[in-house]
Amino acid sequence: SRTPLVAGNWKMHFDHLEATYFVQKLAWLLRDAHFDYKRCEVALMPSFTALRSVQVLVEADRLPIRYGAQSVSVTTQGAFTGDVSADMIAALGCRYVIVGHSERRKYHPEDDANIVDQVRAVLAAGMQPILCVGESFEERRQGIELDFAVGQVHDVTRDLSSDQAAKLVIAYEPVWAIGTGMVATPESAQDAAKAIRDDLAATFSRDVADGVRILYGGSVSSKNAVELIGEPDVDGFLIGGAALDADELAKIARMT
Ligand code: 13P
Repeated sequence: SRTPLVAGNWKMHFDHLEATYFVQKLAWLLRDAHFDYKRCEVALMPSFTALRSVQVLVEADRLPIRYGAQSVSVTTQGAFTGDVSADMIAALGCRYVIVGHSERRKYHPEDDANIVDQVRAVLAAGMQPILCVGESFEERRQGIELDFAVGQVHDVTRDLSSDQAAKLVIAYEPVWAIGTGMVATPESAQDAAKAIRDDLAATFSRDVADGVRILYGGSVSSKNAVELIGEPDVDGFLIGGAALDADELAKIARMT
Protein backbone atom coordinates (compact mmCIF):
# COMPACT_ATOMS: atom_id res chain seq x y z
CA SER A 1 0.00 0.00 0.00
CA ARG A 2 1.04 3.57 -0.64
CA THR A 3 2.77 5.70 2.01
CA PRO A 4 0.92 9.02 2.13
CA LEU A 5 2.81 12.21 1.38
CA VAL A 6 2.18 15.63 2.89
CA ALA A 7 4.08 18.16 0.80
CA GLY A 8 4.27 21.89 1.48
CA ASN A 9 4.65 24.11 -1.56
CA TRP A 10 6.00 27.36 -0.17
CA LYS A 11 5.74 29.15 -3.54
CA MET A 12 7.56 32.51 -3.33
CA HIS A 13 7.59 32.72 0.46
CA PHE A 14 10.39 32.41 3.05
CA ASP A 15 14.02 33.38 2.61
CA HIS A 16 16.68 30.98 3.93
CA LEU A 17 16.46 32.23 7.53
CA GLU A 18 12.69 31.89 7.64
CA ALA A 19 12.97 28.48 5.99
CA THR A 20 15.43 27.10 8.56
CA TYR A 21 13.36 28.52 11.41
CA PHE A 22 10.28 26.81 9.98
CA VAL A 23 11.99 23.43 9.50
CA GLN A 24 13.26 23.46 13.10
CA LYS A 25 9.84 24.34 14.42
CA LEU A 26 8.10 21.68 12.33
CA ALA A 27 10.65 19.01 13.34
CA TRP A 28 10.21 19.96 16.99
CA LEU A 29 6.40 19.89 16.79
CA LEU A 30 6.40 16.48 15.11
CA ARG A 31 8.95 15.03 17.52
CA ASP A 32 6.85 16.29 20.41
CA ALA A 33 3.85 14.48 18.89
CA HIS A 34 5.87 11.24 18.41
CA PHE A 35 5.12 11.55 14.71
CA ASP A 36 5.96 8.45 12.67
CA TYR A 37 7.59 9.60 9.44
CA LYS A 38 7.45 6.03 8.14
CA ARG A 39 3.67 6.11 8.30
CA CYS A 40 3.43 9.45 6.46
CA GLU A 41 6.14 11.21 4.52
CA VAL A 42 6.61 14.95 5.04
CA ALA A 43 8.26 17.13 2.39
CA LEU A 44 8.83 20.85 1.87
CA MET A 45 9.39 22.74 -1.36
CA PRO A 46 11.31 25.94 -0.56
CA SER A 47 12.49 28.46 -3.11
CA PHE A 48 15.87 27.82 -4.73
CA THR A 49 17.57 30.32 -2.43
CA ALA A 50 16.59 28.37 0.69
CA LEU A 51 17.37 24.83 -0.50
CA ARG A 52 20.99 24.81 0.63
CA SER A 53 20.11 26.01 4.13
CA VAL A 54 17.37 23.40 4.42
CA GLN A 55 19.80 20.70 3.28
CA VAL A 56 22.45 21.71 5.83
CA LEU A 57 19.91 21.66 8.66
CA VAL A 58 18.26 18.39 7.63
CA GLU A 59 21.63 16.64 7.28
CA ALA A 60 23.16 18.04 10.46
CA ASP A 61 20.19 17.00 12.57
CA ARG A 62 19.39 13.89 10.52
CA LEU A 63 15.80 15.05 10.19
CA PRO A 64 13.46 12.65 8.39
CA ILE A 65 11.93 15.59 6.51
CA ARG A 66 12.28 15.52 2.72
CA TYR A 67 12.48 18.51 0.44
CA GLY A 68 12.58 19.56 -3.16
CA ALA A 69 12.30 22.37 -5.70
CA GLN A 70 9.33 24.05 -7.35
CA SER A 71 10.49 23.89 -10.97
CA VAL A 72 13.52 22.96 -13.05
CA SER A 73 15.23 23.76 -16.32
CA VAL A 74 14.71 21.29 -19.17
CA THR A 75 18.38 21.56 -20.17
CA THR A 76 21.36 20.09 -18.36
CA GLN A 77 23.73 23.05 -18.64
CA GLY A 78 24.74 25.94 -20.86
CA ALA A 79 23.88 29.51 -21.69
CA PHE A 80 20.47 29.70 -19.95
CA THR A 81 20.68 32.71 -17.69
CA GLY A 82 18.57 32.38 -14.58
CA ASP A 83 17.79 28.68 -14.97
CA VAL A 84 18.63 25.90 -12.53
CA SER A 85 19.38 22.36 -13.71
CA ALA A 86 18.07 19.09 -12.28
CA ASP A 87 21.61 17.98 -11.39
CA MET A 88 22.14 21.17 -9.37
CA ILE A 89 18.90 20.50 -7.49
CA ALA A 90 19.74 16.82 -6.96
CA ALA A 91 23.16 17.80 -5.61
CA LEU A 92 21.37 19.54 -2.73
CA GLY A 93 19.77 16.29 -1.61
CA CYS A 94 16.36 17.04 -3.09
CA ARG A 95 13.98 14.13 -3.50
CA TYR A 96 11.19 15.93 -5.38
CA VAL A 97 10.60 18.65 -7.95
CA ILE A 98 7.15 20.13 -8.58
CA VAL A 99 6.46 20.16 -12.32
CA GLY A 100 3.67 21.93 -14.15
CA HIS A 101 2.10 23.80 -11.25
CA SER A 102 -0.77 25.92 -12.55
CA GLU A 103 1.06 29.08 -11.50
CA ARG A 104 4.03 28.04 -13.65
CA ARG A 105 1.74 27.15 -16.54
CA LYS A 106 0.13 30.58 -16.22
CA TYR A 107 3.08 32.91 -15.66
CA HIS A 108 5.78 31.10 -17.67
CA PRO A 109 5.83 29.53 -21.10
CA GLU A 110 5.38 26.02 -19.70
CA ASP A 111 3.35 24.00 -22.17
CA ASP A 112 2.88 20.24 -22.34
CA ALA A 113 6.10 19.65 -24.28
CA ASN A 114 8.11 21.66 -21.77
CA ILE A 115 6.46 19.84 -18.87
CA VAL A 116 7.33 16.43 -20.33
CA ASP A 117 10.93 17.58 -20.68
CA GLN A 118 10.98 18.77 -17.06
CA VAL A 119 9.65 15.40 -15.92
CA ARG A 120 12.37 13.66 -17.92
CA ALA A 121 15.07 15.96 -16.52
CA VAL A 122 13.93 15.31 -12.94
CA LEU A 123 13.87 11.53 -13.46
CA ALA A 124 17.27 11.53 -15.20
CA ALA A 125 18.74 13.27 -12.16
CA GLY A 126 17.36 10.53 -9.88
CA MET A 127 14.55 12.60 -8.32
CA GLN A 128 10.76 12.26 -8.40
CA PRO A 129 8.52 14.75 -10.21
CA ILE A 130 5.35 15.94 -8.50
CA LEU A 131 3.28 16.52 -11.62
CA CYS A 132 0.46 19.02 -11.09
CA VAL A 133 -2.77 18.85 -13.06
CA GLY A 134 -6.28 20.18 -12.60
CA GLU A 135 -9.10 21.97 -14.31
CA SER A 136 -10.07 25.61 -14.12
CA PHE A 137 -13.53 26.80 -13.18
CA GLU A 138 -14.50 26.91 -16.84
CA GLU A 139 -13.87 23.19 -17.45
CA ARG A 140 -15.71 22.34 -14.26
CA ARG A 141 -18.66 24.45 -15.38
CA GLN A 142 -18.73 22.51 -18.63
CA GLY A 143 -18.58 19.24 -16.71
CA ILE A 144 -15.38 18.11 -18.44
CA GLU A 145 -13.08 18.33 -15.41
CA LEU A 146 -12.20 14.63 -15.27
CA ASP A 147 -11.33 14.40 -18.96
CA PHE A 148 -9.30 17.58 -18.64
CA ALA A 149 -7.20 16.44 -15.66
CA VAL A 150 -6.73 12.94 -17.06
CA GLY A 151 -5.75 14.48 -20.40
CA GLN A 152 -3.08 16.60 -18.72
CA VAL A 153 -1.63 13.49 -17.07
CA HIS A 154 -1.86 11.50 -20.27
CA ASP A 155 -0.04 14.20 -22.28
CA VAL A 156 2.97 13.54 -20.05
CA THR A 157 2.72 9.81 -19.41
CA ARG A 158 2.32 8.79 -23.05
CA ASP A 159 5.98 9.71 -23.53
CA LEU A 160 7.25 7.78 -20.49
CA SER A 161 8.26 4.18 -19.89
CA SER A 162 6.49 2.31 -17.11
CA ASP A 163 9.65 2.47 -14.96
CA GLN A 164 9.56 6.24 -15.31
CA ALA A 165 5.82 6.45 -14.66
CA ALA A 166 6.24 4.42 -11.47
CA LYS A 167 8.37 7.23 -10.01
CA LEU A 168 5.77 9.95 -10.58
CA VAL A 169 3.79 11.64 -7.87
CA ILE A 170 0.68 13.31 -9.27
CA ALA A 171 -1.03 16.26 -7.61
CA TYR A 172 -4.63 16.90 -8.60
CA GLU A 173 -5.04 20.62 -7.97
CA PRO A 174 -8.18 22.18 -9.42
CA VAL A 175 -7.19 25.74 -10.29
CA TRP A 176 -10.38 27.20 -8.80
CA ALA A 177 -9.48 25.66 -5.44
CA ILE A 178 -5.94 27.07 -5.21
CA GLY A 179 -5.66 29.84 -2.65
CA THR A 180 -9.41 30.48 -2.71
CA GLY A 181 -10.62 28.65 0.39
CA MET A 182 -12.90 26.66 -1.93
CA VAL A 183 -11.82 23.09 -1.37
CA ALA A 184 -12.96 20.25 -3.62
CA THR A 185 -15.42 17.88 -1.99
CA PRO A 186 -13.90 14.56 -0.92
CA GLU A 187 -16.06 12.90 -3.59
CA SER A 188 -14.76 15.05 -6.42
CA ALA A 189 -11.13 14.70 -5.23
CA GLN A 190 -11.69 10.94 -5.19
CA ASP A 191 -13.34 10.93 -8.63
CA ALA A 192 -10.37 12.78 -10.14
CA ALA A 193 -7.76 10.66 -8.36
CA LYS A 194 -9.51 7.47 -9.43
CA ALA A 195 -9.87 8.64 -13.04
CA ILE A 196 -6.15 9.47 -13.13
CA ARG A 197 -5.24 6.11 -11.57
CA ASP A 198 -7.43 4.20 -14.03
CA ASP A 199 -5.75 6.01 -16.91
CA LEU A 200 -2.31 5.02 -15.52
CA ALA A 201 -3.52 1.42 -15.33
CA ALA A 202 -4.70 1.55 -18.95
CA THR A 203 -1.45 3.14 -20.16
CA PHE A 204 0.94 1.01 -18.08
CA SER A 205 -0.39 -1.64 -15.71
CA ARG A 206 -2.50 -1.99 -12.57
CA ASP A 207 0.74 -2.46 -10.61
CA VAL A 208 2.20 0.83 -11.77
CA ALA A 209 -1.10 2.63 -11.18
CA ASP A 210 -1.46 1.21 -7.69
CA GLY A 211 2.03 2.36 -6.73
CA VAL A 212 1.75 5.99 -7.84
CA ARG A 213 0.74 8.45 -5.15
CA ILE A 214 -1.97 10.88 -6.15
CA LEU A 215 -2.21 13.96 -3.95
CA TYR A 216 -4.97 16.50 -3.66
CA GLY A 217 -4.11 20.21 -3.59
CA GLY A 218 -6.22 23.35 -3.27
CA SER A 219 -7.20 25.05 0.00
CA VAL A 220 -6.21 22.05 2.13
CA SER A 221 -6.28 22.82 5.85
CA SER A 222 -6.64 21.01 9.17
CA LYS A 223 -10.38 21.60 8.78
CA ASN A 224 -10.80 19.46 5.65
CA ALA A 225 -7.79 17.09 5.59
CA VAL A 226 -9.44 14.23 7.50
CA GLU A 227 -12.37 13.82 5.11
CA LEU A 228 -10.14 14.10 2.03
CA ILE A 229 -7.61 11.52 3.20
CA GLY A 230 -10.49 9.14 3.93
CA GLU A 231 -10.92 8.66 0.19
CA PRO A 232 -9.21 5.50 -1.12
CA ASP A 233 -7.35 7.11 -4.04
CA VAL A 234 -6.24 10.30 -2.26
CA ASP A 235 -2.71 9.61 -0.98
CA GLY A 236 -1.85 12.92 0.63
CA PHE A 237 -1.70 16.62 -0.06
CA LEU A 238 0.16 19.37 -1.84
CA ILE A 239 -0.38 22.35 0.42
CA GLY A 240 0.16 26.06 -0.22
CA GLY A 241 -1.18 28.55 2.33
CA ALA A 242 -1.53 26.10 5.22
CA ALA A 243 2.09 25.01 4.71
CA LEU A 244 3.30 28.46 5.74
CA ASP A 245 2.21 27.78 9.33
CA ALA A 246 4.23 25.04 11.08
CA ASP A 247 1.50 24.28 13.64
CA GLU A 248 -1.08 23.87 10.89
CA LEU A 249 1.22 21.73 8.72
CA ALA A 250 2.12 19.50 11.67
CA LYS A 251 -1.57 19.09 12.43
CA ILE A 252 -2.35 18.07 8.85
CA ALA A 253 0.56 15.60 8.80
CA ARG A 254 -0.76 14.00 11.97
CA MET A 255 -4.22 13.64 10.42
CA THR A 256 -2.89 12.10 7.20
P1 13P B 1 -3.34 26.50 -1.39
O1 13P B 1 -3.17 25.36 -0.41
O2 13P B 1 -2.88 27.81 -0.85
O3 13P B 1 -4.72 26.55 -1.95
O4 13P B 1 -2.35 26.18 -2.62
C1 13P B 1 -2.40 24.93 -3.21
C2 13P B 1 -1.24 24.81 -4.13
O5 13P B 1 -1.16 25.47 -5.15
C3 13P B 1 -0.17 23.86 -3.76
O6 13P B 1 0.69 23.65 -4.83
